[in-house]
Amino acid sequence: MSRSKEAFKQAKEVIPGGVNSPARAFAAVDSDPLFIEKGTGALIYDIEGNEYIDYVGSWGPMILGYNHPQVIESLQQQLMKGTSFGAPTEVETELAKLVIGAVDSIDQVRMVNSGTEATMSALRLARGYTGKDKIIKLKGCYHGHGDSLLVEAGSGVTTLGISGSPGVPDEIAEETIVAPYNNLEAIEEIYNTYQGQIAAVILEPVTGNMGVIRPQVGYLEGLREITATNNSLLIFDEVMTGFRLAYGGAQELYEIEPDITTLGKIIGGGLPVGAYGGKKEIMEYVAPAGPVYQAGTLSGNPLAMAAGIETLKLLQQPGVYSMLEEKAAKLEKGFKDNIKQLEVAADVSRVGSMFSIFFTDKQVIDYKTAKESDTDAFTTYFKQMLAAGIYLPPSQFESNFVSLAHVEADLDATIEANYNALAKVKK
Ligand code: PLP
Repeated sequence: MSRSKEAFKQAKEVIPGGVNSPARAFAAVDSDPLFIEKGTGALIYDIEGNEYIDYVGSWGPMILGYNHPQVIESLQQQLMKGTSFGAPTEVETELAKLVIGAVDSIDQVRMVNSGTEATMSALRLARGYTGKDKIIKLKGCYHGHGDSLLVEAGSGVTTLGISGSPGVPDEIAEETIVAPYNNLEAIEEIYNTYQGQIAAVILEPVTGNMGVIRPQVGYLEGLREITATNNSLLIFDEVMTGFRLAYGGAQELYEIEPDITTLGKIIGGGLPVGAYGGKKEIMEYVAPAGPVYQAGTLSGNPLAMAAGIETLKLLQQPGVYSMLEEKAAKLEKGFKDNIKQLEVAADVSRVGSMFSIFFTDKQVIDYKTAKESDTDAFTTYFKQMLAAGIYLPPSQFESNFVSLAHVEADLDATIEANYNALAKVKK
């Protein structure tokens, strides 16, 4: 038995399913997870010492690569001062200023400990601010595991949400109405049905959690207009896309200002962080400035702030985002050439340094079309890539992440492995 298999066996005895987050299990690809020992740059090493070129990047945060020396140094300095005080520290204000400087729609920001907390808190704020209870979420978007957001769509656009998980009471799920992504008519219909009741629309402006899907031309603009007309809020969940697609996130790329933005992942530089922010008028509803309660023992944790500050400063350097674009574009072209040459029913969907390969010959524009992908083909592909030393997210419905640490040789090796893996899919 490999060391990872043995470690997984032991973990399963003491941790539900052997993992602390379900996405880490390799169940969707009919495998057991690798246990990771360490990472450096774009590489990770499992506990047997096998080396992999990594495109998971801790599910997004590691945009600089693993163990960036400046981030480590900054962490070491903070570590010597203390790890948590439960009192204000200057590093919290420093990271807040960096976030506000980057994202035009944010005047004030509250730090929390995870993306889940950020979206949960953003919903509470939207409800508290508007005095309305219902939320529109888009099918296939993931916003963490808060009760209101763990909701599947029913059959039909305006169907009331039903609980997507045992343990989420129907009364909570019913306040969440699910619509398909990239479909403005569906949103309009919901607003007509529930006039005056919708607090907010929340979405991933570019999706990563059903694979990478871009917003169609006019979609985000349409959402901006409909929400404003109906006095409800537009929430961009940029936990994944924030500081990833551009320094100012997807909202910079598409030039749309949401009312509330949620952040996480990159702004913690690999430590546990989330944040939500928006215009001062809205944020001042948050306690203790206002009546909407939200708190956290470890919120604004100094270690997480230190890692986040250093990460954002490094991302301010000129040329960073064009470098990411070049690296990711090279992979996209290499993969697309391979797909064409081997005549595989697949396509690469990419925005900046986020990309997915969908194993389908149809255009993927929403959850329904994403789900038409051939997951058996993906499983074969995933296993071949892993055997070739390329570590990918273990699901068809996830984004790959390119980091600044991926060098030409990594990209070339990945394109070659992609060719061989696609050839196996083809057989
Ligand atoms: N929102 C988005 C868009 C995410 O991708 C995720 C996690 O992947 C979350 C929220 C939840 O963040 P966390 O896992 O830190 O709770």
